[in-house]
Amino acid sequence: MTSATSRYTRIEVPEERPEERVEDFREVLHAYSKEEAVLEAQRCLQCDLPFCVEACPITQDCRGYIGLIADGQFDAAAHLTLVANPLSTTLCKVCYHYCEDACVMKGRGTPIAIRHLKRAALDFGNSHRMYVPSAPKHQRVAVVGAGPAGLMAAWELGLRGYGVTVIEKQPAVGGQAGAIPRYRMPHHELLVDLQRFRNLDVTFVEGKTAGVDFTPESLLKEGYRAVFLAIGASRANTPGVPGESLPGVIFALDFLYDVNQNRPVQLGEKIVVVGGGDVAVDAVRSSLRLSPGAHVTMAYRRTRAESPAGEEEIRETEPEGIEFRWLVSPQRILGGSRVEGIVFDKMELAPPDASGRRAIRPVPGVSETIECDTVILAVGEKADLTGFPAELKLAIGTKGWPEGSRADTMTAVDGIFAAGGRSVVHAMAAGTRAADGIDAYLAKLDGRTPTPRPDPFGDGTAPPWIPKGYSGPVWRP
Ligand SMILES: Cc1cc2nc3c(=O)[nH]c(=O)nc-3n(C[C@H](O)[C@H](O)[C@H](O)COP(=O)(O)OP(=O)(O)OC[C@H]3O[C@@H](n4cnc5c(N)ncnc54)[C@H](O)[C@@H]3O)c2cc1C
Ligand code: SF4
Ligand code: SF4
Repeated sequence: MTSATSRYTRIEVPEERPEERVEDFREVLHAYSKEEAVLEAQRCLQCDLPFCVEACPITQDCRGYIGLIADGQFDAAAHLTLVANPLSTTLCKVCYHYCEDACVMKGRGTPIAIRHLKRAALDFGNSHRMYVPSAPKHQRVAVVGAGPAGLMAAWELGLRGYGVTVIEKQPAVGGQAGAIPRYRMPHHELLVDLQRFRNLDVTFVEGKTAGVDFTPESLLKEGYRAVFLAIGASRANTPGVPGESLPGVIFALDFLYDVNQNRPVQLGEKIVVVGGGDVAVDAVRSSLRLSPGAHVTMAYRRTRAESPAGEEEIRETEPEGIEFRWLVSPQRILGGSRVEGIVFDKMELAPPDASGRRAIRPVPGVSETIECDTVILAVGEKADLTGFPAELKLAIGTKGWPEGSRADTMTAVDGIFAAGGRSVVHAMAAGTRAADGIDAYLAKLDGRTPTPRPDPFGDGTAPPWIPKGYSGPVWRP
């Protein structure tokens, strides 16, 4: 470190210029060079009590890999990353970096660029090692849903020697991670991660839907010893306003999947995205890239400060030429053969509700109309439980994915588990909880002890799962 100030200032992450990056879906953030990564890693204080690790849902030893990068040991840093994180290549691009929010350097300047250093570890270290399974158990488990929760459970169980069949209704694996626009994560990241699964007994079956082609119980009857439902929240919510079925009204989730899978999408010249979360931000930024010259507005019923979208995403979006409208809530969508506009009620902040969050209420008699030819709805998602038996008594959390009602994520039906998560890394943590629950459940049935979490590379190089100084998670599922 050359000066006292530089310790508190992040080595800038290079990025594409706003006026050029909106021309196409090129990746916005560039990688650190080796030298930049070492300098950034050297800012880390190597805290005895690693708040960064405690904030990471999968307890990734980020302090450890940062220390190794600071010493220029990129191979060891890549190893330490991959040993606990099979979706590292994905996460180094898209994780919402809860670790950085908890980093002590945040209070003193800028937090260490922990996610970006994960990318440097994989870029400059050996990131091509294959996972190695323990001795086969000759027992199969079915995982329904190939999103991050399902993939993590498949990894955990595959490493322990189980055979795993992952059944997915879409033609591709990845779940909602497959809807993340390419300017944040180019297409191949998830495939790079999946390549490392090749030695594990994990089979993917695509294009089969639970509730239509099979049921969780039919899988048990077929001989699977347990079933993990990792079906996420794949059905878009609607705001429930008149006009929401007009031609020209589309759902953000469908739109983003279509864009990533190169399916044609029809956008107009005046686009309004309704919603304030990360999916809404992805929809406005993607619209701008697909429809050059279009006027794109994002309309949210609360303020910017209360928007659920990440600060980083909003900061990156602001210079791209998008109009933000805060404190407006859709009242009705106008049009005949196609959308022509949308009427919003003006909202104002009210005193906090029981959760401590500022409530909002309409300003009496004040509304405004925004002319548009396309409305993209990004007001959340929920699980699609069509065809799932009621006996499972699936609990649906606030974000919409189903959870088993027991502590180990088991549903009311023995042997059937369910979980998901509000981000890629939370979903992975849920997958680990489910895999631990499944292994403990099967061990009990078979009269053996649960399988300890194995050494993923099978060569005795796995560090302890719990990093030194870790005192427990600070995150909530
Ligand atoms: C546009 C967008 C951008 C996002 N950006 C980020 C980001 O940058 N960072 C981040 O951390 N998180 C992001 N997220 C959130 C993150 O992707 C999700 O939290 C995460 O994918 C949830 O994982 P999951 O495995 O629980 O569910 P999902 O990813 O939803 O996976 C569930 C899978 O189950 C399948 N399925 C559903 N029903 C059935 C059925 N009946 N039969 C068979 N298969 C079924 C679905 O097709 C899907 O593939 C984003 C989400 C979206 C939509
Ligand atoms: S996985 Fe995410 S939260 Fe965990 S250390 Fe990496 S960037 Fe941070
Ligand atoms: S909290 Fe920040 S400074 Fe401390 S070990 Fe973690 S990354 Fe380094």
